[in-house]
Amino acid sequence: MTKFYEVKRRDGAARTGKLSVGENHVQTPLMLRVDTISKKKGELEVFNVENQNLDDLSSEEAWNAPRGAVILPEVHPMFTKVKEAIPSLFVDFSVLSFASAMLNSPRDFVRRIIDARNAIPPDVALWVPAIATAENATLMFYMGVDVIDDTNAVIKGCQGIYLMEDGEVRVSELDELPCNCHICASLSIDELKQKNNKERASLIAKHNTLVLDKEVKKARACIRAGNLREYVEMRVRSSPFLTAMLRILDSEEEAYFERRTPVARNRCMMANTMESLKRIEVKRFASRVLERYEPPARKILLILPCSARKPYSTSPSHTRFIDAIAGYRGQIHELILTSPLGVVPRELEAVYPAAFYDIPVTGYWDAEEREWVSSCLRAYLERKMKNYDVVVAHLTGAYREICASVAKDSGIEIAYTCEEDEGTTSKEALNRLKERIAGLCDDKQRLSGFKMKKSMIKAMADFQFGLGAGKQLLGKEERERGERLKINGKFPSYKLGSKGDVLARLVPAYGLLTLTVKGARRIENLLSSYKVEIGDFVPRGSILAPGVVNASEQIRVNDEVVFRGEKAFGVGRAKMSGWEMVESRKGMAVQVREVEEIE
Ligand SMILES: [Zn+2]
Repeated sequence: MTKFYEVKRRDGAARTGKLSVGENHVQTPLMLRVDTISKKKGELEVFNVENQNLDDLSSEEAWNAPRGAVILPEVHPMFTKVKEAIPSLFVDFSVLSFASAMLNSPRDFVRRIIDARNAIPPDVALWVPAIATAENATLMFYMGVDVIDDTNAVIKGCQGIYLMEDGEVRVSELDELPCNCHICASLSIDELKQKNNKERASLIAKHNTLVLDKEVKKARACIRAGNLREYVEMRVRSSPFLTAMLRILDSEEEAYFERRTPVARNRCMMANTMESLKRIEVKRFASRVLERYEPPARKILLILPCSARKPYSTSPSHTRFIDAIAGYRGQIHELILTSPLGVVPRELEAVYPAAFYDIPVTGYWDAEEREWVSSCLRAYLERKMKNYDVVVAHLTGAYREICASVAKDSGIEIAYTCEEDEGTTSKEALNRLKERIAGLCDDKQRLSGFKMKKSMIKAMADFQFGLGAGKQLLGKEERERGERLKINGKFPSYKLGSKGDVLARLVPAYGLLTLTVKGARRIENLLSSYKVEIGDFVPRGSILAPGVVNASEQIRVNDEVVFRGEKAFGVGRAKMSGWEMVESRKGMAVQVREVEEIE
């Protein structure tokens, strides 16, 4: 088993990890310094699999240093052979050779790194040598590169090229040193220019290395925090080459990132750029609303605008909407129109990312944003319109325009309760909403607190585990036999219980439902996509990858999973994707929350 590299945290394809080199434990993403890659025993050694005597690897001594393998570009005939050979070699890292050829085109850059990452096991570190700059390093980590080096930074220093976070400039063109590193703080630009060639090169190289190292640290912090994507969207703006790479990744490598993107996070997702619309989290949410959501049986569909505060129903505007329709809420299904998520049913307002996103609000929507949100609303109405008798929209501005164009395309009649350019929370608009709804309903029908909580838990269970899970968790049949369900807690921290046992909890910090063992047993037959089969042991605290016998492909980081082995049954949170649990030889696979021993 490899013992020199372990992935610790994941944020999309990016990871942080621990690489042990000799006595030192270093963190990845890592910048290796060319002047410290020595040949001394116990330090980093790279070997080419083609030249290795495989018998040597069985000796104890062979394991005293981390082992690496060279991955050749896909054009080389050895590429597929290496792909087969690597898993059996138990290497700790792989080096992508001829990386400089990737700099020819954004597509080559993307292709080679993704191919390399796909060719090696997930718990092997990927080193892309000699091409890193402060500008491109973060995007490489975003794609799954773990190790870079400062070769390029040092060479540029020798060429008199001064690296900055967002590009590079010749020192001869600078009037001032735009940096506070200890090199730049110790002398002026004139003093630097007056140094002899060798000294000047060395000083610029040191600055270049420091700038690159700072970028690596920044990327590591973002991965730990779970906001690397936001940083990448910001970072690629410095060059068309990098922006092109991100667009290629978003449009052509969706499957690669989908398999690696956490299902929930405990932080806000900021959608500040056009690329934010293409995020996996956005596409996943939109598709789950269509595939894993069944609206409650109510005859009026009311479309509302989103609010800055989340969950929406805690915002001042939604508090007023809810007040206006309170008497009839039992007959109304509320759907929130928003960018970039498209449509958010009220019952799903607390899930990730519906309760966890922020956008710049100016009233202006660009064409691509309109098209995306329209497509979400159109798809929703096409599938779910049969549930409703009538559609009311309390919208103005771009929201109303989007709604009107979708209604026209789909041949659906929509009643509007706001005049053009009237605020949705104005007294007149709210009165109109109230009157229109009253006119559509025969009698008053309030929505009881219990019913609202129940429909929220049902929708969230379906959304998380698949259609049917919610109904079974709430246990309609059993309740008819005298079981009384209880939902306690203050919105949205609900706790579902029955006969004194807790079945599930809504965890607002992640926008997820967590199950207890009792809750999991109730729906175990429906959890086949979230199942981890473990070995013959009772896990305490965590399940490590070697203890996993099999795991559902569908599982993503932070998914709620059930695990079962000969001796134990329990629930926990996935710390790696299901396919990764199967392919990895180390690292935490599941954080155990509750376990029951099987006699
Ligand atoms: Zn500097």
